[in-house]
Amino acid sequence: MFFELTQSTKTSVKAFRCSFLDFIEDPFYVSTAESVRYIADGMLVIEKGKVKELGTYENLKNKYSKIPVTFYPDMTIVPGFIDTHIHFPQMEIIASYGEQLLEWLNKYTFPTEGKFKDKAYAQKVAAVFLDELLRNGTTTTLVFAAVYPESVEAFFEEASRRNLRAIAGKVMMDRHAPDFLRDTAQTSYLQSKQLIQKWHKKGRLLYAVTPRFAITSTDEQLRLAGKLLQEFPDVYLHTHLSENVDEVAWVRELFPDCESYLNVYDRAGLVGEKSVFAHGVHLSDEEFRRLSAAKSAIAFCPTSNLFLGSGLFKLEQAKSKEYPVKVGLGTDIGGGTSFSLLQTASEAYKVAQLQRQKLSPFQALFLATLGGARALSLEDKIGNFDAGKEADFIVVNMRSTPLMAFRNREATPTSLEELVDRVFSLVMLGDDRAISATYIMGELAYEVKR
Ligand SMILES: [Zn+2]
Repeated sequence: MFFELTQSTKTSVKAFRCSFLDFIEDPFYVSTAESVRYIADGMLVIEKGKVKELGTYENLKNKYSKIPVTFYPDMTIVPGFIDTHIHFPQMEIIASYGEQLLEWLNKYTFPTEGKFKDKAYAQKVAAVFLDELLRNGTTTTLVFAAVYPESVEAFFEEASRRNLRAIAGKVMMDRHAPDFLRDTAQTSYLQSKQLIQKWHKKGRLLYAVTPRFAITSTDEQLRLAGKLLQEFPDVYLHTHLSENVDEVAWVRELFPDCESYLNVYDRAGLVGEKSVFAHGVHLSDEEFRRLSAAKSAIAFCPTSNLFLGSGLFKLEQAKSKEYPVKVGLGTDIGGGTSFSLLQTASEAYKVAQLQRQKLSPFQALFLATLGGARALSLEDKIGNFDAGKEADFIVVNMRSTPLMAFRNREATPTSLEELVDRVFSLVMLGDDRAISATYIMGELAYEVKR
């Protein structure tokens, strides 16, 4: 279920009373005290869909005594989750058995994506897809549509109806795919250009030039993708990079004169500040350095990397002080196995453990919120509760299942140690059931049935 906006509610000033948790800096690089903002009894004031002020209830209650206040006792409000890599046409092939990337694409993905030429079908799936995201507390996504412009139109129309901040693009692929899924370098350029002109910056929507990956694009198609980025410097580049060993070996065969997988994209002018590369599981030191220098981002997709047997992402290297790379979390549905960024963060923790590394609960939650906003160059608009930001947030119940309620007996943490422990249990055990409500620009967009 979602709620259509009405003009009167959009313009009013209102407030929420709850405990609040967000990030003002990156906990991978600075201390908890410098990065985490926690207000046990707080008040978030919203005006015209944007954050006006966040403070303690005690300090703000008199100043805003005349506005409506929604009170969520025993809950925690956090910024809406940001999914930096997901495929909407793959929703129906989630949990498809037995293959690794290249075989999985041929056996499950390509036949399914063929259905998205039918706009009515695409629209139906886009609606279910966006409802599922809101149910899981995800308020912003970077999305692969299918090769057909109709699939992008359907997605943007549905995202627009829900007033979501979303980035999407038409897949460009002119080789190594079935006939019905192939465009040409020229048609992919023209169709992408038309979609950019129609949708980029329309309301909260943004466009990403989206070549699937190096294997399914000719040199000419990649060159034209680069041309689009030159013509429209503020659109995104969204693609896959170095996910699976067989894929990396094939890229080396197809582009023998490139030093690395990343170099294939670099040569076409696709590696920049608004480039988001999914996976990066098998990157060399040199490729990490190049991504850092270019200020590009990686979408870390642990449930997908484990499900498809792709490998363990080197998060510690990506977040190094010497060559820091922006990192967000991605569910990578349908290669990934959960829409929940809590479940995704839980698997990220285990991927770190398998490499004898630690991912703290605050670092995990940062990746799902402000970290994702930074990866998408949207930190001036979303990701935390700084004044002026768009009020996309979720009401989280850290005692949402009998097990979580048993483990976390006290409703509200009273010390930092308790809070850290509580957030860790949320990341490990939480899923869609932990999301009590989702707000978009301060308006209720989803609420759990009681
Ligand atoms: Zn993907």
